[in-house]
Amino acid sequence: MKLTGKLADRDPFPSFSPAPWIAVLFPLSLSPLLILWAGLLGLAAAAADGRGNSTEHRPVTPINLDLYHSSIRLIGEINDLVRRHPDKLTMDTIKAGNKGYRSELAVVTYCRGRKDVDSNSKFRILLSFGQHGRELITSELALRILSILSEEEFLDKVDTVSLNSFLDKLVIKVVPMENLEGRKLVEGGDLCERRNGRGVDLNRNWSVDWGKKEKDYDPYEENPGVAPFSEPESQIMRKVATSFNPHIWVNVHSGMEVSPVSNICKYFFPQALK
Ligand SMILES: [Zn+2]
Repeated sequence: MKLTGKLADRDPFPSFSPAPWIAVLFPLSLSPLLILWAGLLGLAAAAADGRGNSTEHRPVTPINLDLYHSSIRLIGEINDLVRRHPDKLTMDTIKAGNKGYRSELAVVTYCRGRKDVDSNSKFRILLSFGQHGRELITSELALRILSILSEEEFLDKVDTVSLNSFLDKLVIKVVPMENLEGRKLVEGGDLCERRNGRGVDLNRNWSVDWGKKEKDYDPYEENPGVAPFSEPESQIMRKVATSFNPHIWVNVHSGMEVSPVSNICKYFFPQALK
């Protein structure tokens, strides 16, 4: 895309360094296990961030496929990981739809040795990524975490024996790409799109405070849908969460100032906000 006008000479990403941020939805307690887990997430995020730094100052469009996988490739890589590590990983694809709109979510379950996967003795963690289509880096983080859990990648300065001893106590479910249909729109050129494939913000489609309009409410960006859990993606997440009953649920997003969208979109893609 060639930029013209007043903003054409402005570097759109003067310090572009995408990094995911994390919202813990259901914290129970700050046990040492959780603190260690948060540290691991941070390390993995920093590693993903480091890869982002190598592409500073690149143009906004098109999506840099050297930096980001396409959705098909990313899910394919995760599928391959699961095939290579049946002792640790399984994957389910859950589909839902209504009123002519359908979506599907891949859900990966990690449990070392596949031992006691359904046992209440394990600590259960749900990690979800890519709820907003344009936040590409979060799904990259999901892939990286799964690679680390599969022991195909390793974290510096983390003792593998201690880590594995810790991981033995966990069952982790990972939803790498919660909003596949919205992501497809982004990959098709709607780089600012955060909503699902029919224009609903999945992060406003929960029943908690559904329809509540904050002072900065944006009816385009924050369309909550026709009712709580009206969207297939939200229905699938509810199903996953209620059946898995996690001790904590971490919903990973990338911030407005660092993703190649949002505030910058207001300048470069004003049509997206209409
Ligand atoms: Zn988000």
